[in-house]
Amino acid sequence: MHSHPMRAPGAAGAIVDRYAGVVFDVDGVLLRLHQPIDGAAESLAALRQRGIAVAFVTNNASRTSAQVADALEAAGIAADAEQVTTSSTAAAQLLKPGTRCLVIGMDGLRTALADRGCPTVTEPDGADAVVVGLQTDLTWDDLRRATLALARGARFLGTNADRSYPAPEGPWPGNGAILAALATASGRQPEIAGKPSPALFRAAAERLPAGPLLMVGDRPETDLDGAAALGWDTALVLTGVTPATEADAVRPRPTWVLQDLRALLDHVPSVPRDDVIVRPARATDSSAILGLWDQAGMLGYTREPERDISAVLAADAGAFLVAEAAGETVGVLMGSNDGRRGWINRLAIAPQHRARGIGRALVAEAERVMGAGGLPQANLLVFADNRDAQDFWERLGYSASAPVTLRSKRLGASPADPC
Ligand SMILES: [Mg+2]
Repeated sequence: MHSHPMRAPGAAGAIVDRYAGVVFDVDGVLLRLHQPIDGAAESLAALRQRGIAVAFVTNNASRTSAQVADALEAAGIAADAEQVTTSSTAAAQLLKPGTRCLVIGMDGLRTALADRGCPTVTEPDGADAVVVGLQTDLTWDDLRRATLALARGARFLGTNADRSYPAPEGPWPGNGAILAALATASGRQPEIAGKPSPALFRAAAERLPAGPLLMVGDRPETDLDGAAALGWDTALVLTGVTPATEADAVRPRPTWVLQDLRALLDHVPSVPRDDVIVRPARATDSSAILGLWDQAGMLGYTREPERDISAVLAADAGAFLVAEAAGETVGVLMGSNDGRRGWINRLAIAPQHRARGIGRALVAEAERVMGAGGLPQANLLVFADNRDAQDFWERLGYSASAPVTLRSKRLGASPADPC
């Protein structure tokens, strides 16, 4: 599910080695109800050892950066307040120092505004801006004064637009609900500082070195979309609100899908160098393709591989691909189309060219061709005991679906083809 495989050239190494800095969402990524999520602390420590800068972002407006850093420290994750951008600090950065703010919000927002040099006012007439974060003791009088300030032309700024947030007993109203009340009363719409709008991501990036950045989050529509809009790579981690069963359907596709943060340290092949091209297979490639399949042990299942090749070429699904390096055929992927689904068969890479990202590039091109042809999904079969193959496909964002394949005894005329 790597959507831009040609975009991040670099030496082979761990996923994180491609980035100068990694920005982490907090809830569902590092912490769950104040408890560390499995693998989070060790992975963050490993990133630091490698000299990769980290930053933390959260839409939670009620806690100060220092309080968030303390919560991370308590969970075993080294953090200081300067590394934490909350939707409150991002909102404050949108205001000029000296802006007089009528505030609905708690500690996190009031501290961020004070740090920015923005005084707070309580009466509508003195307000340049109405700044709204979550306030759990909100009253009608708070809404009254904010509505009056908005009617008098004050800027309308919300820390975040989260409609609700999870509490142990169920959803509690989030800051979006408070903003909705004021939007209804004033007939105006707020600017939003938090995810997915760019203000929070830009504020976090200011504290990171120049270079490619990766955003790691559990909620695609806020964490990932906002970062992708700034051109960052994205990683969806499956420890929060997005279950593995929904990861496939996430659009736009994340750059990476991670079971948990330990996967950031997984080694991935580098993308092909410029001397590798991926192109449609031709009849003249047949003997090279057979050689690759033979080396990969894939010819035991088929009796007339030459005929398979010509049949698929004749069907011209467009996804029968080879990779060529310096004129030599070094990889093959036989894509086909059964009318409803795309199938990926017999991906094989010459042994001396493995771990260079050639398989990844072939898969990406097959997916592109199939998608352009209107196919909703690519499918493939791997043997349950072939962990290496499953790991490869999982790193590309493929997940196992549940069918059990039953197989007859070997037939005389139509051999089974499991790969
Ligand atoms: Mg989250």
